[in-house]
Amino acid sequence: MTGAGHSDQARGLALVGGRVLDPGRGLDTTATVSVAGGLIEGVGDGDGDGAGRRRIDVTGRLVTPGLVDLHTHLYPGVSHYGIEPDEHCLGRGVTTAVDAGSAGAQTFPGLRRYVIERSRTSILAFLNIAVEGMISTLVGELEDIRWASPEQAVARAREHPDLIVGIKVRLGHQMAGDDPGPAFRLAREAADRLGLPLMVHVIDLRPGLAWLLPRLNRGDIVTHCFHGGEGGILDPAGAVLPAAVSARERGVLFDVGHGAGSFAYRVARRAIAQDFPPDTISSDLHAHNAAGPVFDQATTLSKLLHVGMTLEDVIRATTSTPALAIGRGASTGALTAGGVADLSVFELRTGHWALPDAAGVTETVEQLLVPTVVVRAGQVCAIQPPAVGLQATETGS
Ligand SMILES: [Zn+2]
Repeated sequence: MTGAGHSDQARGLALVGGRVLDPGRGLDTTATVSVAGGLIEGVGDGDGDGAGRRRIDVTGRLVTPGLVDLHTHLYPGVSHYGIEPDEHCLGRGVTTAVDAGSAGAQTFPGLRRYVIERSRTSILAFLNIAVEGMISTLVGELEDIRWASPEQAVARAREHPDLIVGIKVRLGHQMAGDDPGPAFRLAREAADRLGLPLMVHVIDLRPGLAWLLPRLNRGDIVTHCFHGGEGGILDPAGAVLPAAVSARERGVLFDVGHGAGSFAYRVARRAIAQDFPPDTISSDLHAHNAAGPVFDQATTLSKLLHVGMTLEDVIRATTSTPALAIGRGASTGALTAGGVADLSVFELRTGHWALPDAAGVTETVEQLLVPTVVVRAGQVCAIQPPAVGLQATETGS
């Protein structure tokens, strides 16, 4: 990424005059965020002058903890889904991106060595229960259950506790066949032995969500929760499944995971109207949706604003809540004095943008979160231009 080298970390930084919003800590105030030595020094009423630090005027803009995107695919060259993290995540306001199962036990060391250690984006990972991860569209990773190995997953996660935050399993019939039971049980075993959350992909799950939900425990994550296909979160009359309500009461988390086919405005709007918003908002950004319909995490957040969430709830769902979900609540997704200075700055623009969901429906969104500054460990990093398709959708104000 271009920028001023590491001079910001040495000089310090002050983001002055913005609306500082950290719902996880009950913070919503116009203030200056000061940064020194790569850490957050404080949130206060100073004007940022003095001490020779770099001063950035963010008046009229929104300053949040660096965004966390709980579901991405960041293993280009190995997984057909892979995209470049710094271009698509950090450059669009996401400082912490979680890879959702692109790598399994056998392919994770390469993800660490060739992607995570070479990226400025902070990257963590759910480890696929299939040892090969998500390599090809030709064969589902669990069509042959011999690919699933709790032993190898547990051993690999214990080798990399700094990066592996949970286990991922995809239970769609394309990946696991018509009976997801065996794949689920092996993933459950690995997650339980590790004491880590299990993230479950629920699209095209043949027995439906009502089968899965009683098998999930506190901290487990249902991703693609607002998909528009059969077996989803709504019953045929449009009511949220009672099993989903009771799973949430037990502490199961519901994650958006927008993706190329996993988010329907209709389902999201109905669920939110029944007081069932997502716990976490993630993009499922990958090579087949970064040019639309997903574009990036900020655009995904804008869609959730559009279907009825408040700005505070949207920001919480991409900062403190996902950080807690991966056991990083103290250090990530928070504006805490002494914590690593990961910060995102947005304009909340009003206008008209024609944005597609992932179910073939385009709606006109009237508020768009646009990243304008991103700070990773105290260093200002370059914002990348939005995807071409997103630039083209503004239809005037
Ligand atoms: Zn995914």
